[in-house]
Amino acid sequence: HAKAAGRGRFAIFGRHMDEVLQARREMERDLRAAVENRKEIETVYQPVYDAGTGQLSGVEALARWRHPQKGVIGPDVFIPLAEELGLIQPLGQIVLHNACETVARYDGLKLAINASLLELHAASYPIHILSTLAQFQINPQRLEIEITESQQLDGSRISERTIGVLRQAGVRFAIDDFGAGYSSFGRLQDLHVDRIKIDKSFIDALGQTGSGAVIEAMISMAHAKGLQTTAEGVETEEQSRLLRLAGCDQLQGYLLSRPLAGEALHRLLAGGPVVAVA
Ligand code: C2E
Ligand code: MG
Ligand code: MG
Ligand code: MG
Repeated sequence: HAKAAGRGRFAIFGRHMDEVLQARREMERDLRAAVENRKEIETVYQPVYDAGTGQLSGVEALARWRHPQKGVIGPDVFIPLAEELGLIQPLGQIVLHNACETVARYDGLKLAINASLLELHAASYPIHILSTLAQFQINPQRLEIEITESQQLDGSRISERTIGVLRQAGVRFAIDDFGAGYSSFGRLQDLHVDRIKIDKSFIDALGQTGSGAVIEAMISMAHAKGLQTTAEGVETEEQSRLLRLAGCDQLQGYLLSRPLAGEALHRLLAGGPVVAVA
């Protein structure tokens, strides 16, 4: 009896595994197709505001995948998959292309894009970035690249060289999700960057005992190293107030604006009513 039940369980588990693998294969196939046809990869823009003046200083481009059957899929799902499948380079190029096309008409508006440390390892990365900027006549000084250290990578020399080439051209760099994962002040010695984006988890904790002191220390240390600071995921007036008190340079979050579709961004910059999408 026990044996039969065991076999039954195993069969069910086996069928479940088949379904999981099947779904995964479909997702992979669909993502390859999406990157190939380019149309399903969309870009949304979250405004970034100067903490002192409250002025819009730029936008961060964020990728979305509009799957024909499944609807909009977020980057937390498909970016890791794209990295695994070797699709992260072409995907990054689509997002950069979309974003340049959108911001080109606004002189001086800063643009931030996201890149994993993995993307920076490609020798062709600087050329792709600089040629796309040139194509849309965007000054490299308007671009900032936000690096996420999703994994501990060695061979950081390669990305150092990549960063060096782009910095030479005027492109700036930020460490994204600073304080979470593998990023730390220790890593700042290795990667030459201009800004830290303080991880949302620290902003969430603001207002609780002691956490204000942690953020203040982070900001002071960053400033002492000549780095700018941006707080991400600002959702409340209280967080905004405390961050400005702590000397944070820029604020970003749902309190100020959700990510906007290109059309909504154009309306925002034209001073019209804006409806957020994401
Ligand atoms: P990130 O660069 O740290 O972006 C911030 C994420 O937090 C975005 O999620 C944004 O929509 C969300 N967010 C912003 N303000 C708030 C807020 O006030 N509250 C809450 N709850 N969330 C907020 P999203 O768009 O899902 O992106 C997730 C991550 O995916 C990004 O984190 C970034 O690391 C990565 N990513 C997005 N686009 C790209 C891309 O084109 N290339 C690469 N390599 N990674 C990307
Ligand atoms: Mg980012
Ligand atoms: Mg972040
Ligand atoms: Mg993030």
